[in-house]
Amino acid sequence: MSRKVTDKAVGDRPVRRVKTIIIGGGFSGLGLAIRLSQQGRNDYLVLERGNDVGGTWRDNTYPGAACDVPSHLYSYSFALNPDWSRSFSRQGEIQQYIKGVAEKYRVLDKHVFNCDVTSARWNNDTAEWEVESSEGSFVADTLVSAIGALCEPALPDIKGINDFEGEIFHSARWNHDADLTGKRVAIIGTGASSIQIVPAIADKVAHLDVYQRTAPWLLPRIDRPYTKAEHLAFKYVPGFQRLSRAAIYAARETQVVGLAKFPALMQAFELIARAKLRHEVRDPELRAKVTPNFRIGCKRMLISNNYYPAISRDNVDVVTDGITEVRASSIVTEDGTEREIDALIVATGFHVTDSPTYETISGRDGRTLSEVFDEIGQQAYKGATIANFPNMFFLLGPNVGLGHTSMVYMIESQLNYVADALATVDRLGLKTVEVRRDVQDEYNVDLQRKLSKSVWINGGCASWYLDKHGNNTTLWPDFTFEFRRLTKNFDLSAYETTKTSRADVKVGAHQ
Ligand code: NAP
Repeated sequence: MSRKVTDKAVGDRPVRRVKTIIIGGGFSGLGLAIRLSQQGRNDYLVLERGNDVGGTWRDNTYPGAACDVPSHLYSYSFALNPDWSRSFSRQGEIQQYIKGVAEKYRVLDKHVFNCDVTSARWNNDTAEWEVESSEGSFVADTLVSAIGALCEPALPDIKGINDFEGEIFHSARWNHDADLTGKRVAIIGTGASSIQIVPAIADKVAHLDVYQRTAPWLLPRIDRPYTKAEHLAFKYVPGFQRLSRAAIYAARETQVVGLAKFPALMQAFELIARAKLRHEVRDPELRAKVTPNFRIGCKRMLISNNYYPAISRDNVDVVTDGITEVRASSIVTEDGTEREIDALIVATGFHVTDSPTYETISGRDGRTLSEVFDEIGQQAYKGATIANFPNMFFLLGPNVGLGHTSMVYMIESQLNYVADALATVDRLGLKTVEVRRDVQDEYNVDLQRKLSKSVWINGGCASWYLDKHGNNTTLWPDFTFEFRRLTKNFDLSAYETTKTSRADVKVGAHQ
């Protein structure tokens, strides 16, 4: 549903003018929409390329899709749900929750769905963002990117893959019309998505080849349905749900000590993972193939109770020889083996540090985000602002990612920061705010110093956490409550500002 705001002409073209444009209606964009509505800042629109809210939870409908963080924590603090059916909810239930929250807070009519943003350009003369989209042109004082890191599927560059004649699709674009029953299927990748897909389809397909480049570490998934008594307690016992949430949060936060500060401690997790591997994979040859060769935690730790049993089935093969070519109906590996298949599932992850969306956003000097990141790496200040991009905020920007706990917690920290920034801009009558480059640089030097001790850098793996410069530009290297503290208030002193006045006086950095 779209909502027309004030019409204005830029050149000959009518545009819709709003104070704030949010790109993306996933967990973060929706959260900001709700926050702005609650503040009475109703002059905003969410431009969403899909036909519904939910972002990654709307898009990832593959069989077996579920969250790796318990739902009582993986939900908004302002919209707890006593009805979660189990500890780790499945995709459909999470998507229903997100939709329910959007309806409850009455923000759906602020969304322009099926609206693909093709460019966003800062205009220095007017001090406005000019946004082009499949649904027309927009102009706004402030632009918020709530695009998220896991939205642009990364397709492997393998010889011949475009000439494959059977069913082929990415895990995040599952083709539900493709019936895999009784088919010979291959899946490329053994990350978080693949290890959920493999057990969900292994007993339906005639044969499944799992192409593994790097063996992942797996831990037990302590998942179960909630009992009726628990549901009643979540609903009616004051504080019970908050207490459960706090307990989950605290338990997960202890992992930061090993992941970010003392990687040697991660060996304790390795002991559990090795015992699980020994217990669940009885065949020594297969066990050797799927034994990881890096310190646990270096890549995201995965949880599953049914992946190892699935790959141990007679109709499943784990292939570790590199793929050299995909042909019309087969895959060829380095050892010369050609395996015939009817369908190919590409579970190869996402463009995280090289998102194509970075090419569509250009800042004060005309350079795009991708050109800026090419030079300095993907970096921001508090994951929210970037020098050269005035009046622009990021939700889920650089170095706010996590592997161990709820991203919704980080999102809500960012909502505090961005909402306070917008309130500050209004209160002081500011025309522009742009983070100071020296502040941003200093912040990132400190981040990389902290990250240099982490398992993500020292664990002996290659992962999508690292950018092409070898820096970890995706993860937050400390306790998440530290990030909450850091983002509690908008720190105007870190910003260059100009004031809205007839003279447009540059007031410089506030102290
Ligand atoms: P991913 O973790 O990036 O895994 C991609 C897999 O594809 C890896 O095994 C990778 O091997 C392999 N791969 C990539 N390019 C390849 C190539 N050219 N040839 C052969 N193999 C290739 O992607 P994902 O599984 O979609 O997960 C992405 C993220 O989404 C996760 O880390 C997580 O944050 C999130 N997620 C969460 C859940 C959950 O909560 N349950 C579920 C799914 C996804 P290498 O390891 O060698 O690179």
